[in-house]
Amino acid sequence: MRRPVTPPVLPIRSPVSRSRTVSHVTTTIDKDALRARYRAERDKRLRPDGNEQYLQPTGRFAHLLEDPYTERVEREPLFDEVTVAVIGGGFSGLTTGARLQQAGITDVRIIEGGGDVGGAWYWNRYPGAMCDTAAMVYLPLLEETGHMPSMKYVYAPEIFGHARRIATHFGLYDNALLSTQVTSLEWDDDASRWIIHTDRGDAIRARFVSMGTGPLHRPKLPGIPGIESFAGHAFHTSRWDYDYTGGDPSGAPLANLADKRVGIIGTGATSVQCIPALARDSRELFVFQRTPSSIDVRNNHAIDPEWFATLEPGWQQRWLTNFATLQTGGFADEDLVHDGWTDISKRIRDRVIANLGVEGAEFTPETMLQAYEDSDDEKMEEIRARVDAIVADPATAQALKPWYRQLCKRPCFHDEYLQAYNEPGTILVDTDGKGVDRIDETGVWVGDQHYELDCIIFASGFEVGTTAARRSGFETIGRNGETLTEHWAEGMHSKHGMHVHGFPNLFVVGPSQGANLISNITQNLTEAGTTIATIVNHALAQGAEQVEVSAEAEAAWVQLLESSTRAFMGNPDCTPGYYNNEGKPMGHKERLNGSGYPAGPVAYWQYLADWRGTGTFDGLEFR
Ligand code: NDP
Repeated sequence: MRRPVTPPVLPIRSPVSRSRTVSHVTTTIDKDALRARYRAERDKRLRPDGNEQYLQPTGRFAHLLEDPYTERVEREPLFDEVTVAVIGGGFSGLTTGARLQQAGITDVRIIEGGGDVGGAWYWNRYPGAMCDTAAMVYLPLLEETGHMPSMKYVYAPEIFGHARRIATHFGLYDNALLSTQVTSLEWDDDASRWIIHTDRGDAIRARFVSMGTGPLHRPKLPGIPGIESFAGHAFHTSRWDYDYTGGDPSGAPLANLADKRVGIIGTGATSVQCIPALARDSRELFVFQRTPSSIDVRNNHAIDPEWFATLEPGWQQRWLTNFATLQTGGFADEDLVHDGWTDISKRIRDRVIANLGVEGAEFTPETMLQAYEDSDDEKMEEIRARVDAIVADPATAQALKPWYRQLCKRPCFHDEYLQAYNEPGTILVDTDGKGVDRIDETGVWVGDQHYELDCIIFASGFEVGTTAARRSGFETIGRNGETLTEHWAEGMHSKHGMHVHGFPNLFVVGPSQGANLISNITQNLTEAGTTIATIVNHALAQGAEQVEVSAEAEAAWVQLLESSTRAFMGNPDCTPGYYNNEGKPMGHKERLNGSGYPAGPVAYWQYLADWRGTGTFDGLEFR
C-alpha cells in the first residue's frame, strides 16, 4: 500500500511565449508555469511562526541533549592555565589543534562536551550516515596523517575514525578534556586571560581561545501538537537508539524493526540517508513528508589504492583549490572531484558564457541571474525526471518531486533513497506542505488519517538562527562585561569571521564572514587553523599579551561584506527552510550572519594568505 497525496500540477507543457529549450533535457520548460508552481508550493509552506515552529528537547525528550555513547567518569576540577584552549573537538578544533602543533605550539587543550572528538561525526551515528562532500577534499589533513579514503564519499564511522586519527597523530588527546561542557567563557582584562568554567567545576585560564562550536548540532523537534503524548518509542536521528532498532553504525541490519511499524518525520539530508536502511528492515515504514528533498546522482565508488599511490605530494591542496574554484564558478583544466556540487556551478558558469555568446548580449547582473535561473531550471527538471525513472508508483513519484530552485534547500545526492519507495512496506505520507497535524498516544495524524506506530524517529534537524550562546550552551563575556550575544544582537560583526572587537585573544572558527564555502566546510576550518597558528606564534614571539581587532577594522570588514551581491539564499521565492530564515524576510541580521567574502572563497584564501604573509596582520592590534 502506498498513500501519496500531491496536486498533479505539471509545469512542463507545449512551448508558449517565454519557453526556451535547454540542453541536457529534451523537454521544453514553460518558465511561467514553473515559476507559478514554485510560488504555489512555497505559499503552502509559509507559516507565521517561521523558525519558532520548532521545539527544544525538554521533558521526555530532554535526554536528546545528553551523550548516550560515553559514560561520564567523575574527575577532580582543574584550575590550571594553557596557552591555547580550543572549545569544541570537531574538525574545527582538530584542524586548529593540528596547525598549532605544526607551528610548535604544543600547550593546547581541546575541551569537548562529547565523550570523544569528532563533533557532528561523534553525535550522528544513524544508519547510512555519510558525507555528501567527496572525501578527498572533505577529510582534512589526509597527507599529513597518511590516510587514504576508502570511497569517493565515505560513511560516518570512517569520518569519525579520521577525526580520532588527527587527534592521535597530533597528540591532541594528551591534554584534552572530553565529556566536559563549557558553561561560560569570561575575559579577565587585568590578567589578559580567558577563564573557562565547565560543568565539571573547572576554572581554566587560557591565554588564547579558539571557539569551534559548530553550526548544526543542537537537535530540534517539530512543534507538532501532542508530541509529548506518544506512548511508543521515539528518538532523534542525532541520538540513534540502536538498542531499540538493532544494528550498528556500520550498517548491520536493524533486526529489531522486523516486526515494527516505524514512522520517520522529516525528509532532509539526514532522512534521505537513513531511509534506505529503515525501508529495508522495518515491517512497515511511514515517511511523513512536508517538503521533498532534491535527490541528485551519488555515483559512489571505492578508491583504488594503486591510483591513490600515484598522487604527488601536495595533492590535497591542489584538489581543494580545484574543487573550490569549480564550485564557485571559476575555470580549471580538469574537474578533479567531478560531482553534483561542481556540476551545479559549472552549469551556471557555462550558461553565462552561452548567454553572452548571443549577439548583443552584455555581462550584467541580469544576465548572471538569467543564467542562474536557466541552469537551475534545467537541473531541477533532470532531478524530477530521475524520480519518474526510479520510483515505480506514479503517484508516489509525483509526490517526491521537488518544486523549488535547487539551492533553496540543501541539495541531496543518493542512489538508494528513491529506490526505497519501491519496497512494498514503505509508505510515503505526503502532507502537501502542511506537515504532520498531531501526535497522540498511539501514532500520527495527517488530516483525518491516523497512522498507528511503534516508533517515531524525528529527522527534524538542528537549531539554526538561534544565538551562538544558546546553541553551544555557554555565553562568552568580553571586555567590560559585554557578551557575544549583545555584540551580535544586530548580526555577526567580525573581521574574517574570526576576530571580534572587545573579545581579545579569541578566535571564532566557522565559514561565516570568511570564505563561506558551504559545500566543503572543513576547508574553511583548516584555513582558519593556519591563520590562528600564525597569529598566536606572532603574538608569543612579540610577547604580546593581547591581540584584538580594532573597532574600525571590524566595521570596515562588515561594510565590505554588506557590499556583496552573493546573497542567493535570501531569494524570496524559495520554499521555506533553514537556508532562508524559514521563509521570513532575510533582514540585515540574517544576511550578515550568512555572509562571505564578496569575491568568493578562492579569492578569500588568497587574500588571507597574503594578509598572513605580511606579518603585520592589518586591522589587528598586538599589545
Ligand atoms: P533538516 O532541517 O534539513 O530537515 C528537517 C526535516 O524535518 C525537513 O524535511 C522538514 O520539512 C521536516 N519537518 C519539520 N517539521 C515538520 C513537521 N511538522 N512535519 C513534517 N515534517 C517536518 O535536518 P537534517 O537533519 O535532515 O539535515 C540538517 C543538515 O545537516 C543538512 O541540511 C546538512 O547541512 C547537514 N547534513 C549533512 C550531511 C553531509 O553529508 N555532510 C548529511 C546529513 C545532514 P521542511 O523541508 O518542509 O522544512
